[in-house]
Amino acid sequence: MRDVLAVMWVFAFAPVVVGDPPARSFDSYSDQERAHLKRIHGQPGTLSYTPDYPGGFEAWQDAARAKLKELLGMDRIASQVLGHKPVVHLEQEQAVDGYRQQLARIETEPGIDIPFWILRPLGHEPNKLPVVICAHGHDADGWNTYAGVYNEKQHQVLTEKKHGNPGVQAVRQGYIAIVPATRGLARPTSISDPNGRHGNRICRAQLMHCLLAGRTAMGERVWDITCLLDWIVSDLSGADTSRIGMLGNSGGGVLTVYVAALDERIAVAHPSCSLTCFASESGYIFHCDCCMVPAIKTELADMADIAALTIPRQLVVVHGVKDELHSAPAVNRAMARLEHIYSQCNIREKFRFRWQPEGHRFYPTVFWPVMNSVLQPDE
Ligand SMILES: [Zn+2]
Repeated sequence: MRDVLAVMWVFAFAPVVVGDPPARSFDSYSDQERAHLKRIHGQPGTLSYTPDYPGGFEAWQDAARAKLKELLGMDRIASQVLGHKPVVHLEQEQAVDGYRQQLARIETEPGIDIPFWILRPLGHEPNKLPVVICAHGHDADGWNTYAGVYNEKQHQVLTEKKHGNPGVQAVRQGYIAIVPATRGLARPTSISDPNGRHGNRICRAQLMHCLLAGRTAMGERVWDITCLLDWIVSDLSGADTSRIGMLGNSGGGVLTVYVAALDERIAVAHPSCSLTCFASESGYIFHCDCCMVPAIKTELADMADIAALTIPRQLVVVHGVKDELHSAPAVNRAMARLEHIYSQCNIREKFRFRWQPEGHRFYPTVFWPVMNSVLQPDE
């Protein structure tokens, strides 16, 4: 597997852009709308990265992280769950198809149980293994999909066809895979939407309750992963906690960007088909409503600068040319910005971006070689 990946790595990182960029129009606003959206979205955020930031790069990161926590509502969540200690419950482990699979759940707030899968290679003891957290996006069954826990044969066929089971890919390469349900996206972690008041969309229902309470949906998701990271570091047996990576496609990729920005325990991050500008030049907003963090572009910065909070750690990004959710100019603008900031820090080689030939999905031949080089450098 490693040899195959090594060969594919050469092709994946050849200095070419593969295929044509997405062709969908994101700019069909009237002139009046366009002028208005440019006026409200067109200015750089107050905390956009600048080499002239007083105190230097790390001072900028400290200020930007503090603002990001505030805008996500992290401090409010912390104050609302004051005194609560997350508890993890582990079910019986079982052997499946060459690895071990264990269902678990973590109570990240009183009464909020986030289920997750733990996948372990067979017979790794006594070696400590690196950990990969796999965060899913808009799929009510996403945590099962990512962990290869299929509800029927067709589920398995469709998932494997688009390499949508990163937890299984991870455990087969010697990682402990942690695959949590994402709050507001996975069915067991969702709040209902009586009368379809929020468009019969569970993620919108989550968002609206969060906004009314001074939180954000993304903040709750970051909170859950942070609780999991605390548990991984303190209690996950067999884990090498100096080697933790995180990945996700789509909404899971957006979550990966925010967690990696805030939490330096993540050594390498892979947001797939998700890291771009928040809006197109004419104002089209790319991500789902549930990813909205109010005022983030004005009071903080655009998404590339937030991803730059991952510096000096490694970041590997892909987009698919057939992905109709994203616009090539916006992606390329965000990637150029990240390349610029990584270059300014003299670690250009720690940022990787590639267009890939298909759509909105994972591209294992691009991200695993990077994850492996950071998390399993001696293999
Ligand atoms: Zn959503």
